Amino acid sequence: MNYSIVVMFHEIHSSVWFNEVLVHLGKKYKFVNADQLYENIHSTGLCHITFDDGHRSFFENAYPVLYELQIPATLFVSPKVIEEETNYWFQSVRKLNNNDFHQYVCKKVSYRFSNPITDFSVYSILKSIPVKIILELIENYESENRIEEEPYMNITKEQLIELNNSGLVEIGSHTNNHPILINESDKVSELEIKDSIKMLEDMIGHNIDYFAFPNGQPGLDFGEREIRILNEIGIKLAFSTSSQKIYGKINNYMVPRIGISKGNNFYIDNKIRFAKQWSQLRSISHRNTEGKERKRLKSMLLLDQ
Ligand SMILES: [Zn+2]
Repeated sequence: MNYSIVVMFHEIHSSVWFNEVLVHLGKKYKFVNADQLYENIHSTGLCHITFDDGHRSFFENAYPVLYELQIPATLFVSPKVIEEETNYWFQSVRKLNNNDFHQYVCKKVSYRFSNPITDFSVYSILKSIPVKIILELIENYESENRIEEEPYMNITKEQLIELNNSGLVEIGSHTNNHPILINESDKVSELEIKDSIKMLEDMIGHNIDYFAFPNGQPGLDFGEREIRILNEIGIKLAFSTSSQKIYGKINNYMVPRIGISKGNNFYIDNKIRFAKQWSQLRSISHRNTEGKERKRLKSMLLLDQ
C-alpha cells in the first residue's frame, strides 16, 4: 500500500454498521489519532477517522464503538451550536417544506443574481450566499409560517467535555455558523475561524490544533484566504472534503477525506479504491449536480451587495 486515508463520517444511524466498517478498515490500515497523523503525514497504511458537525448520533452510536475498539477519532464541531443548542442551518432547512421554502428563497434573494434562479436547487442557492442571509431567511420563513424550530439534534456541552476527557476523541473546529467561507467577507471569514477556535478552547480548556472546512470543497467552499488564516494561527492540519487518498506529499491545510455514510465492505473498499474518480464515475450524483449549479450561480452573482 502506498497511501494513507482520512475517512469522514457525519451521522451514524447504526452502531452495528459502524462497528463492521471499523473492523473491516482495521484489517488493512493502522488507526492513528490526529497528532500521529500530523507527525506521520508522509507515511503509508494509516487511517484517521473524522466526524463533522457533532450530531448527537456520534455520542449515542459512534463513540461507544470507538471506545470499545479503542480507535481514536477527531470530531469537528461548532462551539456556538453547542453553547446555544441551536441546529445548523442545513439541519433546519432539511425539515422545511422543500418546494415552498424554495419559492420563498427565490423570491427573497433573486435580486442578488443577474438571471432567474428558480431552476436551481435550494441548497445550491443557499450555498451561494452569506450565512447571515441564510439564517435570516430561515428565521423569517419559520416565523411567517408559524413553524416551530426543530428540537436540538447535536451533542451537548457536557457530552463534548466527556468526549474531550476520554483521551480518544480530538476536538476540532468547524466554524461557528457553518458558512461557505468563500462567500463571506474577509472579516467574517476570519471571525468564523478565529472565534470558533477561541470559544472551543475556552470550552475544553486546551489548544485547538485541527480544523475542518464547512462543506469542504477546495476552491468552491474555501480558498487561499482561509488557508493563510489557519496557517497564521498555528492550526496543524485543516481537512477538506476532497475525496482522495494521501500519497506522501500533501498540503497540510487541504487534507483530503473520503466520505463514508453507508454501504457494505465491498462498497466501501471501492469508494476508497476509486476515491478520486468516484464523483466522476457517478456524474449524475447529487453532489456533482450541485457543484455545477453553484459554479453557474457564482457567475450570475451581482457584486456590491
Ligand atoms: Zn459540516
